[in-house]
Amino acid sequence: MEVAMTPRSGPQRALHKLGLVRPIDLALHLPLRYEDETCLYTLRTVREGQTAQIEGQIRATEVRAGRQLLVTLDDGTGTCLLRFFSFTPGMQRALAVGQKIRVRGEVKGGFAGWTMLHPAFQPAGGTLPATLTPVYPSTAGLPQAYLRKAIDGGLQAAVLDEFVPPQCWEEAGIDPAWTLRAALALLHHPPPGPPPQRTHPPQRTHPAWRRLQAEELLAQQIAQQRSRAERERQRAPTLAGGTLQERLLAALPFGLTAAQRRVCAEIADDLRRRAPMHRLLQGDVGSGKTIVAAMAACIAIDAGWQCALMAPTEILATQHIAKLVAWLQPLGVQVAWLMGGQGKRQRHAALDAIASGQAQLAVGTHAMVQDTVRFARLGLAIIDEQHRFGVEQRWKLRNKTATVGDGGDSTSPLQPPLQPHLLMMTATPIPRTLAMSYWADLDVSTIDELPPGRTPVVTRLVHAARRGQVIERVRIAVESGRQAYWVCPLIEESEALDLSNATQTHAELCAAMPGVRVGLLHSRMSPAEKRMVMQEFVAGTMGLLVSTTVIEVGVDVPNASLMIVENAQRFGLSQLHQLRGRVGRGQAASACVLLYAAEEGGKLGEGARDRLQAMAQCQDGFAIAQRDLEIRGPGEFLGLRQSGAMLLRFADLRDNADVLDWARHTARHLLTHNPEAAQAHEQRWLGNKTQFLGA
Ligand code: ADP
Ligand code: MG
Repeated sequence: MEVAMTPRSGPQRALHKLGLVRPIDLALHLPLRYEDETCLYTLRTVREGQTAQIEGQIRATEVRAGRQLLVTLDDGTGTCLLRFFSFTPGMQRALAVGQKIRVRGEVKGGFAGWTMLHPAFQPAGGTLPATLTPVYPSTAGLPQAYLRKAIDGGLQAAVLDEFVPPQCWEEAGIDPAWTLRAALALLHHPPPGPPPQRTHPPQRTHPAWRRLQAEELLAQQIAQQRSRAERERQRAPTLAGGTLQERLLAALPFGLTAAQRRVCAEIADDLRRRAPMHRLLQGDVGSGKTIVAAMAACIAIDAGWQCALMAPTEILATQHIAKLVAWLQPLGVQVAWLMGGQGKRQRHAALDAIASGQAQLAVGTHAMVQDTVRFARLGLAIIDEQHRFGVEQRWKLRNKTATVGDGGDSTSPLQPPLQPHLLMMTATPIPRTLAMSYWADLDVSTIDELPPGRTPVVTRLVHAARRGQVIERVRIAVESGRQAYWVCPLIEESEALDLSNATQTHAELCAAMPGVRVGLLHSRMSPAEKRMVMQEFVAGTMGLLVSTTVIEVGVDVPNASLMIVENAQRFGLSQLHQLRGRVGRGQAASACVLLYAAEEGGKLGEGARDRLQAMAQCQDGFAIAQRDLEIRGPGEFLGLRQSGAMLLRFADLRDNADVLDWARHTARHLLTHNPEAAQAHEQRWLGNKTQFLGA
């Protein structure tokens, strides 16, 4: 029987942290690598650098400088010095002269003969295992020995019955003899390979691996398709617009591009339907997604419903508010905003306006998903830069409808509340193939055209040795009226270092450009401080803005035409593309300078070189996303990382494209003809993680 235990001991808590709760979770936790403990080597035949298991007797021991334990082991064919840099009295007893022990470690040659550093040891003479010893991904406080035992227990206890008919696996090109049980048995405890590399593990192309990849993709597709079917059964308000959209268009200083008109129409079609929309709007940085969001909001507001717009940072939310207020308030729309740094009175007023329905549009950060926020009639939820939010936050925003009978809602208590429509926006485009096939539960609209009048951004890779020249060029440009961003290096290990770095760079640039107003923006500043700095930069009185990566997302200052990124080799490709997208938004010719430096070892890493070259060669966000997919793999897209449920552990969409096709088709087939099998399979793989699927 499958029972989930509540964790008690430290290792049990660690297991829970890894998501290893049910026996099946443990059974599906596969080794990272294997160790070969199936045979014994002799010291006469071992080779330099080999990991070997040896049995012998201890001839001598010595404690050096009170801290190092040195043990001489003799196996009858030679001797080996075991070195322990820390030890306990218990270890000293076990390693006393005359004891016979079995050790396992890497042998290194030295002028004094073989040595091993901190080998694993146990008494000699135990039976040798017949299979390789698995080494599992683990976490602090979870020893391998404990994990191995727990996983073996999980393998015993888990229900590993075959739910899916064997011919389905055959259709995926997998011999049905490779049942789940057989595949897991092999992958957890493979027999040793042939010498000399006896640890040679089963490769990812081995049928046991392919069975697991197919299992995983099938579960993911079943979950997606089922979630779509469930959403089709839910009810959302049908929203059809009046005149607000046209009035907004008439007041805009620009006309929409063809691509913008097309995606607006796609969204309008969805909003007219009775099932809730679940649409991703993707468009390159600067492609004009905000106005599309405003157009969608108009439809909801016109129909008498509220719209919520959530953005990941305060700076971005502030910009949205400024824009939407300017666009919509003159047309009579009431806008409320919600953010962390807001005063109490303002916040209460906003909450009241949202709860009473007086505010037709609410804009804010994740402050919008707090429990105190209640909407009277939420008809449309829009999430900007959605990959920056966790699935849970998206799910919460969607569930922000008033409880039944609350706030004068007309829904009868017998009917479930209406679900709001959901529009997600991202500038991290997903390669189309990936989006279409993988996310069966998502409709995708794409803005594939930039507004007219954009100048292409010239991208230059400049070695950090020429930083001084770059500073001089920036000074000249800014003094002649242009505006520039200077993005400080990312220091992943430490936020404090990040900060001191930005402060230093700021001081240095202030000194280098006495005639220029240089601002500083970093994540530790209060929202009010950030707002003030941004206001000055938007107004154009500030020529240069030094910042940590807080400006990464969505900032829109058309007059800024220069972007300098320091230590560009440390940034991810899509991040660099986002940063570059901050310029090239106005009439002035724009440039992006990527300053790079060799990392440790005096060379640029291969990945870093690939990324910088891709940036220099390529402007198009989709092409960059495709390159990114090739360099990094698909896990990062769509915020899959945070979702856990959706992260693919075994399958790789780059290698398993044909299996994905099979999984789509088989999922559809099973859901129609064998729903019990589909459900059992989904449960096995995703357990209770499917709750957030519709978010
Ligand atoms: P993103 O897609 O990156 O969110 P924004 O919505 O911030 O882009 O738009 C970038 C800039 O382009 C804004 O200043 C916006 O007002 C402007 N813009 C949007 N659509 C058009 C258009 N059709 N013609 C001209 N400018 C536009
Ligand atoms: Mg944007």
